[in-house]
Amino acid sequence: MPTVEYRNSYTVKFILIGVCLAVIAVLAVMLARLPAKEPEGSGTVAPGITTDLPSTAEPVTTPAETTADPSESTAPETEPARQYEYVTDVSEYLEYIDTKDDAYLVLANRQHPLGENYYPKGLTVMSEYGNVTLCYTAAKAFEAMHREMEALGMADVIVASSFRDYDYQYKLYNKYVKEELALHPGYTREQAEAIVDTYSARPGTSDHQTGLTVDFFPVTRKFEQTKTFRFMMENGYKFGFILRFPEGKTDITGYMYESWHWRFVGREAATEMFERGITLEEYLGVTD
Ligand SMILES: [Zn+2]
Repeated sequence: MPTVEYRNSYTVKFILIGVCLAVIAVLAVMLARLPAKEPEGSGTVAPGITTDLPSTAEPVTTPAETTADPSESTAPETEPARQYEYVTDVSEYLEYIDTKDDAYLVLANRQHPLGENYYPKGLTVMSEYGNVTLCYTAAKAFEAMHREMEALGMADVIVASSFRDYDYQYKLYNKYVKEELALHPGYTREQAEAIVDTYSARPGTSDHQTGLTVDFFPVTRKFEQTKTFRFMMENGYKFGFILRFPEGKTDITGYMYESWHWRFVGREAATEMFERGITLEEYLGVTD
């Protein structure tokens, strides 16, 4: 009998220790989840908002709400929740802004031409914003962004150029070459083309042929003095848009800095490019 009691008391101790561990685990999960409550409509991406952002965005360091498993909630590799703040309600646009379709990462540059026959699907004309012709998803993301700018009191946001097909780019490029030849009478066509290549795409290599690009008005460096530019630099990525040809990246993109030229890639990719300060070429690992 004493042996049995001895065994029983051991069993009771084991059960007690087990219960204590379970209670500790449950408390740990509850504590980890408490601060992770998010307002509706927020997304989850990476942290580390850069310092030039408005101070309204607080860095979020708690694990995402979905990590209910205690073994996961303590794992350091878990992506912290990322909040996107909007003035307007973008919930009906989120499926477009935050598209997961890689098609919107299509690359068009000198080394990777789209070719004569590339024609984007689902082109949508939205003339109320100027000359806006974009793929449907990019058009909806642009619409959401335009609503946001209007809500912030920006009345004169005009798009000067968006989708341009191969033929249009062919004519545009050749018009520029003629202008350079007129400006520099002794130049050969190759010399004139070399100049034009620094500011205009050859047909088939234009980012505008993707149907995912807008040029804001004015299409000059004066655009940098506009509210639209400041808004885009701080918020464009929230709507999936990136500055396609940033300053100091000409050796990678092949084009000089164009503050007015913005390209839709989807929010997740745009956020990463924005935060890391990288171009589409660098994001895709195609810098040859
Ligand atoms: Zn452009």
